[in-house]
Amino acid sequence: MSRKIESKLPDVGTTIFTVMSQLAAKCKAINLAQGFPSFDPPKALCDRVQHHLYNGANQYAPMTGVPALRNAIADKTERLQGRAIDADQHITISCGATEGLFCAIQAVVRAGDEVIVFDPAYDSYEPAITLAGGITRHIPLSIDANGFDLAIDWQQLSDTISEKTRLIILNFPHNPTGAILQAADLDTLADLVRDTECYLLSDEVYEHIVFDGESHCSLLSHAELWERTMVISSFGKTFHATGWKVGYCIAPASLTEEFRKVHQFATFAISTPIQHGIADFLNSNPEFYAALPAFYEKKRDFFCGLLEGSRFKLRPARSTFFQIVDYSEINHEADVKLAKRWTREIGVASIPISVFCKQAFTGTRLRFCFAKDEATLEAAAAKLCEL
Ligand code: PMP
Ligand code: GLN
Repeated sequence: MSRKIESKLPDVGTTIFTVMSQLAAKCKAINLAQGFPSFDPPKALCDRVQHHLYNGANQYAPMTGVPALRNAIADKTERLQGRAIDADQHITISCGATEGLFCAIQAVVRAGDEVIVFDPAYDSYEPAITLAGGITRHIPLSIDANGFDLAIDWQQLSDTISEKTRLIILNFPHNPTGAILQAADLDTLADLVRDTECYLLSDEVYEHIVFDGESHCSLLSHAELWERTMVISSFGKTFHATGWKVGYCIAPASLTEEFRKVHQFATFAISTPIQHGIADFLNSNPEFYAALPAFYEKKRDFFCGLLEGSRFKLRPARSTFFQIVDYSEINHEADVKLAKRWTREIGVASIPISVFCKQAFTGTRLRFCFAKDEATLEAAAAKLCEL
């Protein structure tokens, strides 16, 4: 029997990351599209994972996560964000940030609830909202005169919040633009949600990759917001290990309880030896995080420096390992078409920005991932400078 199924996600196709990575592989193009480093995790971390792999840590981990890892996350949260959290009541290990985001959305969004996202919005949010029966309300991040600095339009957020709003999803440091929040933004957000019933979901996977001496402003650092917030993060970005898929959710006890009800039936538990290995590494190398901004800032500057000889316009990213460029001096083709054409014809793959936007964000922007070794960035930039 081959009957056409009525789709629960009729507007969803294959994710742009899969589309562009497959095209890059097919065309043997340099893949600066999907965000993953071209280098390995620290050797000391791999050694600890290997140790646990050969020393009996190969059966189910606890549903909530290995205690040693949750304790290490609690330590770092207190150290970096100044919030004392309880590893048992507030932290759950997830299968990357993706599962964490999905479970958090399923845990709180009910049929007919509205969820606010800011465009450009990471592509996994809306399908998860739709599957929960929710309705996504898109608010574009506002753009400054140069078109590069993005910020929340507080008036528009205030106008969009209603008694139907169940959840607001934030993602700072922001993929794809690198925008970040300041402490004052959190106070403004607190003013707007104070008399509402809505929860906050904060996707902070790039929490440790913020440049130019600025610092990450976690929702965890804000006493009032914390009470209604689920923070999602991932070790994929921090340890150059996107393929390990270990992330976590930090939330107050009542939200964590609901989160775990979903998580226990989504994956139940996450890879045991990797959790133990990360816990050991966090405990023995607490300074690793501190070196990450300089590590990636050097790559950002290297890549942006190479593009100085090109016709792309850019403002160096303030965070993440992505650089947005404007190609309007080269042509005005639609970004999805252009990203695919340049992958085939020039041999460099990128991510078009319009796929993250409900309304057109701008037609002439592409995202390049600079989490690559210098030779790869040089080879890509040489091709881009010919355009
Ligand atoms: N959120 C954002 C903003 C991301 O960029 C990514 C992936 N890079 C994720 C979530 C998913 O993270 P993970 O690979 O840990 O599932
Ligand atoms: N988050 C990664 C990016 O933005 C991709 C993750 C994925 O492929 N699902 O490139």
